[in-house]
Amino acid sequence: MSELKIVNYPDPILLSVGKPVNDADFGVHFEKTIETMFSVMEKAGGVGLAAPQVGISKRFFVMDIPVETEKGRDRERHVLINPEILRVEGEQIGEEGCLSFPGLFQTIKRDMRVIVKARNQHGGEIEMDLDGLAARCVLHETDHCDGIVFLDRMTPLKRELAKRKIKRLQTTGKWE
Ligand SMILES: [Zn+2]
Repeated sequence: MSELKIVNYPDPILLSVGKPVNDADFGVHFEKTIETMFSVMEKAGGVGLAAPQVGISKRFFVMDIPVETEKGRDRERHVLINPEILRVEGEQIGEEGCLSFPGLFQTIKRDMRVIVKARNQHGGEIEMDLDGLAARCVLHETDHCDGIVFLDRMTPLKRELAKRKIKRLQTTGKWE
């Protein structure tokens, strides 16, 4: 699987619940897939990419989020496998995009803080306490594992507008 391509809405794989990753899935091949997903995501300019978005109906995603450190702005790479949202808190409203919806951005309400449990690419258990953009990213990507797309998180009016825009892009050949 050297080549992975981003699939666009309304590909049915984006609307299907992913299968859990099990012990037999870990290994060299899996790590290669993850590496490829990071490069596909970087090339596309995204901060998160879930397996169903590259045609793999499984519950994992990669993310590369900007974080503030003592040395300034840095990026942090994470792989979250079989993510499980343990707790959420607060609320944030902000613009969101999705690599499976090229050119479409919309204001989405999300939880401000999230505690998530998952496994990393080596199979170890991790727990993360995130807020802001990182929390938004985890919630968006965990949704992908559940067959939920950000369209489903929009208000009915915004969803209608978004669907119309997609149709327009499809008829002009700007959406595959
Ligand atoms: Zn997405």
